[in-house]
Amino acid sequence: MALIELDGIVRSYRLGGEDFLALRGVSLRIEEGEFVAIMGQSGSGKSTLMNILGCLDTPSAGDYRLAGEQVSALTRARLAQIRSRLIGFVFQNFNLLPRVSALDNVALPLAYARVPRKERLQRARQALERVGLGDKLRNTPGQLSGGQQQRVAIARALVTRPQVLFADEPTGNLDSATSVAVIELLQQLWQAGQTIVMVTHEPDIAAHAARVITLRDGQVLSDVRQTPLVLASGAPA
Ligand code: ADP
Ligand code: MG
Repeated sequence: MALIELDGIVRSYRLGGEDFLALRGVSLRIEEGEFVAIMGQSGSGKSTLMNILGCLDTPSAGDYRLAGEQVSALTRARLAQIRSRLIGFVFQNFNLLPRVSALDNVALPLAYARVPRKERLQRARQALERVGLGDKLRNTPGQLSGGQQQRVAIARALVTRPQVLFADEPTGNLDSATSVAVIELLQQLWQAGQTIVMVTHEPDIAAHAARVITLRDGQVLSDVRQTPLVLASGAPA
């Protein structure tokens, strides 16, 4: 059983009286331990697919099994549980709470999971140390660079120890040097065993993944395994 199994996924939007198909029958399997990049031009359906994978949206037709569970058959309560236990999500624009510290931002998903406060703060600190921000626990997002804010968002996604990390254009708001640092962090997490599915439209970023799925007009155009580009940390790009 694959961690992710999609069969004939369709997503249609009703637009001006007509149905527009953002996804037209996507079928794929992703195993535990993979590092997958989803590529494609703007409008090809990457975010639509990612939102379905992350259980933020539901398909109009087709089957999605995540860790053996038929997602469309889940109750709202079970879906919320799956989201908080199995899935970590990283957004292009970080989505951090502006007025609270990095530590409290990262600890927040554990509050939803009803973890006691002392353990929340301890695990949030460890997650921030893991992304290289052990010295920025008290900074608010406004006191951090874009790359640092994305590291906080990655720590927040990891703090619940999700089975899979989804990231939609995680480097889309970052300059190229910062993007490389963030993709190297994701690659290190993958090397340590984290399953990662990431959307990007940048070939330089996708080069760090071990598999590249390309979408066109809501369908899988190609699905290729590759040797990931590995840059020794600190080496010139
Ligand atoms: P990508 O992330 O690859 O740029 P999206 O998945 O965001 O593409 O969008 C795929 C297509 O679906 C686009 O043509 C977009 O305009 C359309 N689309 C996305 N969301 C909606 C929506 N809520 N309502 C109508 N059309 C949408
Ligand atoms: Mg998108």
